[in-house]
Order: sequence, then structure tokens, then C-alpha cells
Amino acid sequence: MKAEIIAIGTELLMGETQDTNSSWIGSRFPEIGLEPQWVTLVGDDLTRLTDIVDRAWRRSDVVLTIGGLGPTLDDLTRDAIAKMFGEEITTDPDLAAWLEESFSRRGMSPMPQQNLRQAGMIPSAITVPNPLGTAPSWWIERDGKILATMPGPPREMMNMWTTEMAPRLKARIPGQAIMSRMFKTIGLSEAAVDEMVGEVYDMDGVELGVYAKPDGIYVRAIAKADTEPAALSTLMAAEEKIRGALGEYIWGTDEEEPPVRVGELLKARNYKLAVMESCTGGMIGSAITDVAGSSDYFVGGAITYTVAAKIAAGVDGSIIEKFGVYSKETAAAMAVAACKTYGADCGVGITGIASNADEKAPDGTEIKGGTVFIGVAHPTGVVVEQYRFPSRRALVRNRAVTAALLQLAQAIK
Ligand code: AMP
Ligand code: MG
Repeated sequence: MKAEIIAIGTELLMGETQDTNSSWIGSRFPEIGLEPQWVTLVGDDLTRLTDIVDRAWRRSDVVLTIGGLGPTLDDLTRDAIAKMFGEEITTDPDLAAWLEESFSRRGMSPMPQQNLRQAGMIPSAITVPNPLGTAPSWWIERDGKILATMPGPPREMMNMWTTEMAPRLKARIPGQAIMSRMFKTIGLSEAAVDEMVGEVYDMDGVELGVYAKPDGIYVRAIAKADTEPAALSTLMAAEEKIRGALGEYIWGTDEEEPPVRVGELLKARNYKLAVMESCTGGMIGSAITDVAGSSDYFVGGAITYTVAAKIAAGVDGSIIEKFGVYSKETAAAMAVAACKTYGADCGVGITGIASNADEKAPDGTEIKGGTVFIGVAHPTGVVVEQYRFPSRRALVRNRAVTAALLQLAQAIK
């Protein structure tokens, strides 16, 4: 089955709005046994839009359009599809009544006539309701193919996909089952990961992708087979090889996020957490408080960028002097001080070089840019690790956050 997505809107072409919808849907295609073949961006222009829809209809079995369903004259998706099929748009009386009613319910009667555009239908289409918006979708099945329109606002689009489009498509897609899983690693380079999973590339029915992400290297395995059980067993075989190759470097799969895992563990243990951050400048606190309910376990902490700030927050200055500010000892002292100063059971201390400039330790040894020391203090001990991340500022900081959270999770699991 060839499937494609057409994202419609001049604002997308101009870069004013990011096309987040296509990638969101694309990532969900495998769940229903579809593989995206093309994504096209097109502006609000009837001729070009009709051309693109026509090409998609000729070459694909499933075509999803996103956007251009609004009431305004630049929303032309309906017009383009009607033109392509050579059908006339007429106002559907039921839809018109529903639209009038939703306007009056919101105290916005009378409805502007322009809004009747959203009640337009063609003979080949049936409507798919959109409870979160005023634009219903069209669902067209012809010549063994499917064309469906979806609303542009991401929230409406996601809801419609989950409640309507995915189940409808799934019921109609025969044969091929596709399953995929993302493995998330930290501590290895992209090339190293790629080399380690090398033999998985050769497996039948498995497609492999390696991606560098801000928080580490991800490996995606996609398994294809005739049936779901067969796809699952292929995926499991691939997983076994991937886990065998990458072992401890894998910290999670799919939607797993370190701050959520940390939160669950802290809550289960009834531990409170405080942080003392230098090179991450508050990013760990930010990641932790991104999770709803983090006030149950997160006390707070300090951004201690200078030596003076570290000492003011409770770190013993003689440790910094003796071992240097970039050292395991200082990271450990920061973690312990975070606990003491803020009255927490667990503390994270983090110090390192976010830039690519090398530094000298007090004993004269060189510390390379991208080196980060992370200390984790918890009720039964202190663990401290030294990391070396690719020395680009954003990468060092993002990966240090992931590493710190994973180190904490490991320590209290
Ligand atoms: P429309 O249905 O074209 O009027 O779009 C409604 C809203 O959804 C506008 O704010 C668009 O910028 C937004 N939107 C449309 N398409 C996308 C897309 N592919 N990704 C993200 N936002 C979109
Ligand atoms: Mg639009």
C-alpha cells in the first residue's frame, strides 16, 4: 500500500508555521500497517493544490490531506478535490444545520455565510465529524483507494486521527503488518551505534535507522510481515540482536522519557530531590518540572555557575581547591550539598565543560571540552561518573541532562 500526506498552507511553505502534523501522522502510520512514501507541502493555491492532489491520487492508495478546511477563501482543499474528481460542491443541509447550531450555542448567531463553505460536500465523499472544530473531514473511497481530509490545527488533527482515521484505515488495510520500536541510547557516537547494530541491517523484513538526537543516539527498527504475529516475532528477533549489541547503552524505548522515569522512582521510594547545577544552568530542574506532579518529589536547588556560588550553596571550598572545579570530587560534594542545603533525600550535582575549550586540573592534567562530572547522592550512598560528550554546547548540555537523570534512576531503582 502506497500512502502519502499532503500538508496544505502557504504559512507552512513560508516557514511561518512548522509542519508538525505530517511528521506526527507519519510516525503513526506503521501502527496501522502503512508506510509513508511521500510528504508534500503545498500552498493555498487552487491550481497547484489540484495538481498535487491529482498526482497523489494517481500514484498512491491512501492519500491524507492536512489543513485548508477552514471557512476562508484561502482554504481550498475541498475545492481542489472536487475539481480533481470533476464533481460539484453542494451545501449539505445537515452539516449546515449543525454549523448554525454550533454558532448559536456559542452565542455567535447569525453565522457568517462564509462558514457554509465548511458544509460543502461532493457525491464521492462522506463526512467524518470533527468534535473539536467546525471543519468536518471528507472520507472518499473510490477505485480501491482512499482519500481523506484532516483539519490543520494540531489538536483537532491528532484527535481526528486517533478517534476516526486510524481505526477506519486499519480496518481497510489488508495484508501487511508493520511494527516498529525505538531504542534510545546514551554514551555512544552515531557511528559507533551504527557499527554495533550492523548485523541487524541484514535481517530479512527489518528496516533499521540510526538517528542522533539531542539526548543521545536512537535506533529505530521497523519489522514488516504479512500478519501482526509475524511482524511481532520479526521485531522481537531484531530487538534481541539490538539489545545484544548495545546492552547497557540502551536506556529506554519508544515514548520513555528519563524525567518521567525518575519521577516515578522518587515517588515510589518517597524520596525528595534537590539539584545543584553548573554547566546545565537549570536544565535538569527544568526537565524535572516539565512533568506534571513533580512538586510531589522535587524540592528545588541552585544554579551555581561560579566557584563562589558553589561555596555559598554549601560546597566545601577546600574540595574545589584541591581537586578542581571540574572533578568527580566536586560533583559529589555538590550532590551532597544539594541534599543538605535543601533538605532532600537525593541530590544531583553537575559540573563540566559545555564548550569545546580544554581546561587544566589542579594537578596539571588536561580536561577536554565536553567532559562532565555528575554526582548523585541518595540515602545509601553517592555515585559519581565522568562523561565525555561531543563538544558542541547544546549537545553537551542536553546529553548531560539525560545522563544525570539516568544516573539518578539507576542509583535509586
Ligand atoms: P487550516 O485548516 O489550513 O486553516 O489551518 C488551521 C491552523 O492549523 C493554522 O493555524 C495552521 O497554521 C495550522 N496548521 C495547518 N497545517 C498544519 C501542519 N501541517 N502542521 C502544523 N500546523 C498546521
Ligand atoms: Mg490554511
